[in-house]
Amino acid sequence: AGGNRLHIFSDDLRVQVRERLDAEARLREALAGDLVETLPIWFQPIVSAETGGITGAEALVRMRTPSGRILGPGHFIAAAEETGLIVPLGEHVLRRAVRQLLEWGDRLGYMSVNVSPRQLAEADFVPMLANLLAAHPHLDPSRLVIEITETALLGFSVDVRERLEMIKALGVRIALDDFGTGYSSLTWLQSVPADVVKLDRSFVAGLSGDPRKASIIEAVLWLARSLGMSVVAEGVEDPADWQALRGLDCPSCQGYLFGKPVPAAEFGQVLRRAVEQ
Ligand code: C2E
Ligand code: CA
Ligand code: CA
Repeated sequence: AGGNRLHIFSDDLRVQVRERLDAEARLREALAGDLVETLPIWFQPIVSAETGGITGAEALVRMRTPSGRILGPGHFIAAAEETGLIVPLGEHVLRRAVRQLLEWGDRLGYMSVNVSPRQLAEADFVPMLANLLAAHPHLDPSRLVIEITETALLGFSVDVRERLEMIKALGVRIALDDFGTGYSSLTWLQSVPADVVKLDRSFVAGLSGDPRKASIIEAVLWLARSLGMSVVAEGVEDPADWQALRGLDCPSCQGYLFGKPVPAAEFGQVLRRAVEQ
């Protein structure tokens, strides 16, 4: 590049930059459109490990492109976080999730919603949540669960712990997502007023054939119980792993074995069928 400067710009990097810009452009377009159409929320069941019956759901955002293709969050969440577009996106997810929770009434115990660190760092987040709950006085706030990952604690100047205490004061429950994969899971347990631990699927998949995994899960279950927290095992795909989790008295499971994320209409049908049975 002249002088003693050398620029290395590989094809790989070029592809990455292009994909990143595409993601951002698509996201801006989606957010400018009819959000219900462009950013549909899908729902995955969370079940009682004992009975397999649906107790809750996790709201998982998707993107519908102008050509009708459905994209998973892997295609746009990172870009949303980097640009701050996660703030309006996340508010949309929360509103839709609460709306579905109200619509499904008694058929669904609770709704779990992912909230990114960037959203939590916004001064407006807690007031927005409080307003949403105030608009639905009949909704028991403990039926709403906010899922956060350990990275929420890092890199932000706001006191995340204080913010989580405010969320709890509203009656909303807090879940530690992807538990066990971060760098300081025990600090996390100690410092955050959480109600639920979501055990990452890397500990769960293949559990039945791996005594080390079983020991780790057993210890986390024990720890959570003594702290008064509940546990959801994520990524349960294999019936043998389910049986192993039941054997360890794990309270709840989530995974393809019980159901993949599906659109709201389809999830509503699953709930209706469950009630009829
Ligand atoms: P997550 O919060 O850990 O959500 C669980 C992910 O695991 C979902 O992927 C789900 O489809 C997938 N999964 C569930 N059961 C199984 C299983 O048995 N096997 C395997 N292999 N995978 C399973 P999805 O929907 O692609 O979401 C990926 C991630 O994107 C989520 O991971 C979450 O971190 C993020 N995300 C999704 N929706 C939102 C949102 O509304 N806001 C924010 N901030 N992040 C979101
Ligand atoms: Ca989650
Ligand atoms: Ca997770």
